[in-house]
Amino acid sequence: MEKIKKNFGFGCMRLPMQGEDVDIEQTKQMVDTFLAQGFNYFDTAHGYIQGKSELALKECLTSRHNREDYILTNKLSEGYFKTQADIRPFFQSQLEACGVDYFDFYLMHSQGSTNYQHFKDCRAYETAFELKAEGKVRHVGISFHDRAEVLDQILTEYPQVEVVQIQFNYLDYDDIAVQSRKCYEVCRKRDKPVLVMEPVKGGSLVNLPDDAKKIFDDLHGGSPASYAIRFAAGFPGMMMVLSGMSSLEQMKDNLSYMKDFQPLNDAEMAAVHQVVEVFRKMNLIPCTVCRYCVEGCPRHIAIPDLFAIMNTKSIHHDWNADYYYEDVHTKPGSRASDCIRCGKCERICPQHLPIRTLLQDVAKEFEKK
Ligand code: SF4
Ligand code: SF4
Repeated sequence: MEKIKKNFGFGCMRLPMQGEDVDIEQTKQMVDTFLAQGFNYFDTAHGYIQGKSELALKECLTSRHNREDYILTNKLSEGYFKTQADIRPFFQSQLEACGVDYFDFYLMHSQGSTNYQHFKDCRAYETAFELKAEGKVRHVGISFHDRAEVLDQILTEYPQVEVVQIQFNYLDYDDIAVQSRKCYEVCRKRDKPVLVMEPVKGGSLVNLPDDAKKIFDDLHGGSPASYAIRFAAGFPGMMMVLSGMSSLEQMKDNLSYMKDFQPLNDAEMAAVHQVVEVFRKMNLIPCTVCRYCVEGCPRHIAIPDLFAIMNTKSIHHDWNADYYYEDVHTKPGSRASDCIRCGKCERICPQHLPIRTLLQDVAKEFEKK
């Protein structure tokens, strides 16, 4: 933890893209800007952008900057090991993909009641602690998506876990499914530094409904993201807030208020609470666009994209959403109504969304004809 310079990290799950590939030139500019302004924390996982996030970090960060100038976090994800014997070769492939010989943090990825047992059965935690003892990992932690009691159980069984990454933002703070506040309280009780993911909830707190945006505009303006990120960073014990920045422009906005970070004042906090009320009344689908569900769908349904256009239609009553449904995000055989209800997507969704039911709603809205 000693190397950490600031409380704001570069989440590399949503790097800028050019078609199917990472926009390497823009990513280099973002990496250099980030480091030049005194930030040094980078977060990736093998599954991010189908393996392209790790490779982009090698090209843009690790091959161009000194190892002591950045902190790199990677993760052990469920889909990449069936037995304990698979873990070390996978870990080694991650080091090579990233072009480093150690990770500063190695997190057991997306822990929750459904996959925790697999990690235990494969002695994944024990393997990570061995890697730490060998100097290939500096700190072992978890990223977590489930109820607070499951987090408490994991930290009871593995007290050696050093840091916990949780989803934390003003909309999920008291959400009964995500339980941001309760998970945060477990971390505090156990004295674990917290890494925040999804502070802008997959972009939902950036592109605000008009009524919500007006609340911030009437206060003193500033980007909607600034309120969301400063909200998360303002709680005691928040070691790092990660932002999945997708452009240099987004990064410049984020850095402008995180360079000399100030927590929200009382008036700003009151405005945030009003914005929460606006969202509550809209009943939007709380998808964070992590895209974990997409790869395994036998019908290749663009689940998060369909949810996004459903939300866009609710927020803006946007006729354009119908065009996006028909001509951009669906093909014959992969429309919402083509879901065969196999449930694979729901088993992997960290937000525990009832995807099958939601897709029926999407079909009703967009396939009326
Ligand atoms: S339940 Fe439907 S959307 Fe989910 S993986 Fe199966 S076919 Fe795809
Ligand atoms: S539906 Fe769930 S798994 Fe799929 S992108 Fe949204 S949050 Fe992620």
